[in-house]
Amino acid sequence: MLSYQHGFHAGNVADVLKHTVLCEVIAYLRKKDKPFYFHDTHAGRGLYDLTLPMANKTAEYQGGIARVWRQANPPAACLPYFLALRAFNQGSALHYYAGSSLLARQLMRPTDRLAANELHPQEFHFLQDQAQMRRDRHLPRLRVSQEDGFAALKAVLPPKEHRGVVLIDPSYEQTSDDRACAQALNDALQRFATGVYLLWYPIVEPKRAFSLIESVKKLGAREILQVELLIRAPIAGERGMAGSGMLILNPTWQLDISLQEALPWLVHHVAPKTGRWHLNWVKKDG
Ligand code: SAM
Repeated sequence: MLSYQHGFHAGNVADVLKHTVLCEVIAYLRKKDKPFYFHDTHAGRGLYDLTLPMANKTAEYQGGIARVWRQANPPAACLPYFLALRAFNQGSALHYYAGSSLLARQLMRPTDRLAANELHPQEFHFLQDQAQMRRDRHLPRLRVSQEDGFAALKAVLPPKEHRGVVLIDPSYEQTSDDRACAQALNDALQRFATGVYLLWYPIVEPKRAFSLIESVKKLGAREILQVELLIRAPIAGERGMAGSGMLILNPTWQLDISLQEALPWLVHHVAPKTGRWHLNWVKKDG
């Protein structure tokens, strides 16, 4: 049973980290003329109205995107993300938050290709509506599917463009999700070894993500960069996220350098007293 709904969390600190990294990678890929592919295994509903009660129940976006998107002089790595988000909002008011597939699409060209998958029937229905409503000849078409995101990934790889990025962003509702992430990445790397893979994970318990990282480390990726953004130190037995992290397999060139500048800036704005960040090469070629 799927109960997670991203509408309660859209624009929170975890989204800020995830979407900064995603948009920076997409912006890098579009520097070359050659088209690329983006695949979103767990896409959510696409667009989130931040004025609705759902978004304001815990108003997580207030502690995340609302604190950073209009700040003066953001680091270069945050610019593609903020630029993409502005396309969904008029003026300085933050009315809508765009999810991974719509943010990525905003930065892509009509010659690029993107596909967004979502299993939850209601979320999929919203996503499908977004794909139909937001037709724009300056942007690629958003293709949507409603399948198990882990199992469906291998069928779309390798992409015909031979360049691309895959975001794996599950809700971790099932204890089997960790294993499914590692398995999906393993299958994907065998088909598309040079793809960029972005795996998001929550940080709740101090060692929670450790086994996931260890299993991903054993896979065939040449390089793995790890970034984390925490609003406080994780405490054993405590419920709720202390922060989140991402494993970036085959990162784009100099992503570590641009994120090294962005992470302290983000922490300074979202959790100046208790926040922290980490950037670490889990695996580095040469
Ligand atoms: N990637 C989105 C973003 O950044 O805007 C947020 C995705 S949210 C964290 C995770 C989504 O995965 C939820 O919408 C949930 O319904 C969906 N989901 C859960 N299990 C799934 C599965 N096996 N396959 C595809 N989607 C799934």
